Amino acid sequence: MNKIPVAILGATGLVGQRFITLLANHPWFEIAELAASDNSVGKKYGDAAKWQLPFEIPERLAQMTVLPSDPERVQAPLVFSALPTDIAGELEVAFAKRGAIVSSNASPHRMDADVPLVIPEVNPEHLALAETQKKKYASDGYIICNGNCTTIHLALGLAPLHKRFGLKKVLVTSMQALSGAGYPGVASLDIIDNVVPYIGGEEDKVETETVKFLGRLKGNEGNGGSLRSPVSDLAIEYADIRISAHCNRVATRDGHLETVSVEFEGNGVANKPSAGDIIAAFDEFRGLPQELNLPLAPNRPTVYRREKDRPQVKLDRDAEKGMATIIGRLRECNVLDYKFVLLGHNTLRGAAGATVLNAELLYAQGMLNNVGLSAGRIVG
Ligand code: NAP
Repeated sequence: MNKIPVAILGATGLVGQRFITLLANHPWFEIAELAASDNSVGKKYGDAAKWQLPFEIPERLAQMTVLPSDPERVQAPLVFSALPTDIAGELEVAFAKRGAIVSSNASPHRMDADVPLVIPEVNPEHLALAETQKKKYASDGYIICNGNCTTIHLALGLAPLHKRFGLKKVLVTSMQALSGAGYPGVASLDIIDNVVPYIGGEEDKVETETVKFLGRLKGNEGNGGSLRSPVSDLAIEYADIRISAHCNRVATRDGHLETVSVEFEGNGVANKPSAGDIIAAFDEFRGLPQELNLPLAPNRPTVYRREKDRPQVKLDRDAEKGMATIIGRLRECNVLDYKFVLLGHNTLRGAAGATVLNAELLYAQGMLNNVGLSAGRIVG
């Protein structure tokens, strides 16, 4: 089968390394180009990357020469971006203008009105926004984004509840792993024997991205819900949920833990779901990735653990290939209605895994059908 050639921007960083392992033997995508900063350009990837994962770098990729992150030099039609925030904004647009489809893990475009911010199990219909960018860029290129690492897991945990019962208020406190800050990340003397109650910009991302994920696509009513609508007046109506987030950095390596309290719509106890209803919603939640059997899809996107002391970071972050949100400790809340704990892998489902799953959804929806074919760059 012909595979689509792909490039990785920010390939040498922590998220870039996850892209390498997720894409090295992918059934649909073939890594064709690796790009990073001027510090790495011209070096062999194996020499440039400060490799942090407990797997060998595949030999073919270790020998690849790192390219500059320049849309004229990086030619692949599908681009995975793990660029730093301060340069991702302009560079991703430049790639889209040269016709590339950019599946981004970076934050600058997540809240743009015409950029789909997608979790494939939660809001795949938002992909229709991508078409509106083609006009803006006068090319076949566009940008789609996954969310912040804490937000993706929060939104995955809230989606089964919001879709079934409706949510009104959410309080969330995160305990976020060190790998969330990239490499080398937080200085050791700042974090050993410590918890840092501040992560720049994080609380705002959790509060705003979540209501976009859980929001409703408007302006698409007339076309039967096609994900490839040519309609250009599409917009996302944000979910009407008030969210308050506290974000903390803790000294774990991978895996963000979040304690969550929720209030449901509807007045009076009689209208609220029972604990059994809520657990059933977590147990039964499935989406398009499971239906389409996407290569990286977890069997269960939300896993509810019945033990009284789970989920735990070290024990549960790798469940379902690191692609699920693990939930537990559901109980009544004295302030809102219910409270629970959730956990998710931040560099897999919270970053590179999310970006790859978004691209798999594009592929399965036929949105990559002619990508690369016209340029004759499909590799076999
Ligand atoms: P990282 O470990 O610091 O890696 C940064 C990457 O960007 C490296 O490949 C670096 O290349 C490259 N880079 C730096 N400056 C550049 C420049 N001027 N031009 C081109 N490339 C440049 O960071 P990370 O954790 O992988 O994060 C990457 C992106 O993902 C960020 O936007 C981050 O906010 C986002 N994100 C991260 C996580 C997470 O859990 N870590 C989760 C969600 C989102 P060199 O090696 O050559 O310097």
